[in-house]
Amino acid sequence: MARISSLTKERFRKSIRSVLKELSRKVMIYKQPIKQECPNCYFDKFTGKSTGKCKWTIDEAEQKQTEWIVSHPGQIRYKWFRVGRCPICHGEGYIEIKRKAWIDCLVSWNPNSLYTNSTVYTPAGSEGSTSVQLKTDPKYYDTFKNCVSVIVDGIECKLSSPPTLRGLGNQAVLVIMAFTTEKLKVDSGEIVKDYS
Ligand SMILES: [Zn+2]
Repeated sequence: MARISSLTKERFRKSIRSVLKELSRKVMIYKQPIKQECPNCYFDKFTGKSTGKCKWTIDEAEQKQTEWIVSHPGQIRYKWFRVGRCPICHGEGYIEIKRKAWIDCLVSWNPNSLYTNSTVYTPAGSEGSTSVQLKTDPKYYDTFKNCVSVIVDGIECKLSSPPTLRGLGNQAVLVIMAFTTEKLKVDSGEIVKDYS
């Protein structure tokens, strides 16, 4: 195999990066949620659950919620209850904070079928799902490795394998393989969600 000069490698790397930038679109990544002690009830350190007692009086809860909603429209974080199951954490004592990120990716749906007639690899239990390949900057390796799911063109997908680095030189492009969690069918040229 011919040796490739580092200059060529560098040029290749730069051109790949610029192609990525021009053709990519935004993909939403759901990161691992953060667990946080419920802000609405007292936490019981012995049981690891909610004590079933509200931290606030009715007025305090209302006041706090009014302030919260200013910066977090539509979110309920404080709600008074007499005793029993906390309406915020549902008695768990914890709330999960969902975290998302938007990352520019090159998107190819059904990447294998473009070149071969072979069946697309699908993980067990995902028969009939569609695969999608994402290419992006290697700096997002950890984000993808630890993500819960990704939303590509409005469709939720899970990673079928850990992200891999591909290309000439060191770490040219990060490649992510994912598959749809909702089954899709092609109907008169349009992708229709199948709820059956
Ligand atoms: Zn609670």
